Amino acid sequence: MNKRILYYSTNRDLNESKIVDFKQIVTFKEALFIGMAPDKGLFMPSQIPQLSKKDILSLKGKQYHEVAYEILKRFLSDEIKDKELKNITKKIYDFEIPIDNLDNYTYIIRLDQGPSASFKDFAARLMANLMHKFKQKNKSVTVLVATSGDTGSAIGKAYKGLDGIKVFILYPKSEVSLIQKKQLDTIGQNVQSIAIDGKFDDCQRLVKEAFSDSELANLNLASANSINIGRVLPQIPYYFYAYVSIADNFKPVIFSIPSGNFGNALGCEIARRMGLPIEKIIIATNQNDEFPKFLKSGIYEKVEPSRTCLSNSMNIGNPSNLARFFDLYGGNLDKEGITHKKPNLKEMKKYLYSVAISDEETIETIKQVYNNHKIIVEPHGAVGIAALLKYFKENKKAFSICLETAHPAKFPGIIRKVLNIYPKKPNSLININKRRGEPDYLPNNYAKFKEYLLNRHKK
Ligand SMILES: *Cc1c(COP(=O)(O)O)cnc(C)c1O
Repeated sequence: MNKRILYYSTNRDLNESKIVDFKQIVTFKEALFIGMAPDKGLFMPSQIPQLSKKDILSLKGKQYHEVAYEILKRFLSDEIKDKELKNITKKIYDFEIPIDNLDNYTYIIRLDQGPSASFKDFAARLMANLMHKFKQKNKSVTVLVATSGDTGSAIGKAYKGLDGIKVFILYPKSEVSLIQKKQLDTIGQNVQSIAIDGKFDDCQRLVKEAFSDSELANLNLASANSINIGRVLPQIPYYFYAYVSIADNFKPVIFSIPSGNFGNALGCEIARRMGLPIEKIIIATNQNDEFPKFLKSGIYEKVEPSRTCLSNSMNIGNPSNLARFFDLYGGNLDKEGITHKKPNLKEMKKYLYSVAISDEETIETIKQVYNNHKIIVEPHGAVGIAALLKYFKENKKAFSICLETAHPAKFPGIIRKVLNIYPKKPNSLININKRRGEPDYLPNNYAKFKEYLLNRHKK
């Protein structure tokens, strides 16, 4: 049948890279543990598996974990036994995925019911369990994550209880909300939070320095950040699940995706290339509007510093996964946001639409959706819905699905201010103030951080 899927770097054709001994093509397992390619490119699959119309329609009526297994095994069957993958998907996807409808052609799929109440749970849980499965049995692995809030708790919860893996989550001491802090500090077991006396960038710098420190080689450091290929694959199946749950026949669909680093939208792009009949992918951004501008002008300029908006997980001025979009459309973009080769803009415009939404429009959408449909959405989801409505002003209304990426109860202040109601908390957020757990406190100093890691490693 198909050749084994291997992973290449988006920078493979950049001759500027000074690294010589980098294997250009790696297995999934290698890519998972390396994270970013040594030439600073992102890993991409050498081929995209194809599903026929019949394959896709046969997913109808299946539970989410079954759909996830059917899609993921097409990427992973050379890496892990089908039965083991099946057990993992069954274990990790044990929460609900509700679908609401706004009218008879627009739907909202809620990806906010996982352990950290954000869609990042889908990716974090698969990545954690695959790392656990693939790591050498007698070796322990140390995962380092720098977070400004949401990612850290999804990652931390995903790794909790996996033996042989220690996780340290670094966050800026004074820059996370109280709920976020509680979520990060109280995970427990093999997951320890570290409050750094600094900013998010400082946390990232400490983690980066640790990765390049050869004296920490014994710790087998692994990264769990958003560019890991292990976080891309699990963001593909829910597009299939949403589609077959709603669509009859094989009618084309539009997805609208609130986007920051574009990992979620990338999952949609890959689903389309696998055969899902997606006619348009709407990449909805907040005022970090570098991509909508690029689609219009063909010139990419990152937004620096990034703009602060209500949908704070999307305050990203240079989306990391854009390098992968460029690659899929025949271009090359590096980590710093420099275009080395232009992608096929015409082709991109055929499948992608992008628009930037203001905070005022975000708030107006939260109000409108509640007043017209009695459905509560939070700022990220609202950006996606607002972008779809803009698209419909220029195009015929059609079958469409918006993604809600976080639970409204994570934003009680905004929701109360706009709607004057308190959203009901999901189980994952109930009694959070009563949970126990303390961070370790460290200064913004690499020597101290290194000493801490070495000490903890001995224990
Ligand atoms: C991370 C995040 C996003 C953005 O997702 P990307 O894959 O980075 O584009 C959107 N909404 C929420 C709630 C998030 O946490």
